[in-house]
Amino acid sequence: MKLDSCRPSADYQFPLVTGCPASCQYCYLQSNPNIKPFARVYANVEEILQNNEKYINQNKPKITSFELASTSDPLSVEHLTGSVKKAIEFLQIKNMDD
Ligand code: SF4
Repeated sequence: MKLDSCRPSADYQFPLVTGCPASCQYCYLQSNPNIKPFARVYANVEEILQNNEKYINQNKPKITSFELASTSDPLSVEHLTGSVKKAIEFLQIKNMDD
């Protein structure tokens, strides 16, 4: 639950998924030895997002940005999980809360 920096694209990165079911040969994901030839979906999305909220609150009043596709392609399974939509809505609301 300790988030890694993701400069310069975002303040932090976090995964909702690992890997990508497409496994395109030219993709940088294939060069990572830790990436398996299948996608793993995290079911504890609420827990992941609540952890991210701590980082948002620590950085206030600055807006905290997150990258969620640096080591996976969560959009490839979004039609099954809905987790990207859930994450965007949650993080946007928490960044705007006073
Ligand atoms: S992230 Fe994109 S390019 Fe990479 S394997 Fe998945 S679909 Fe292919």
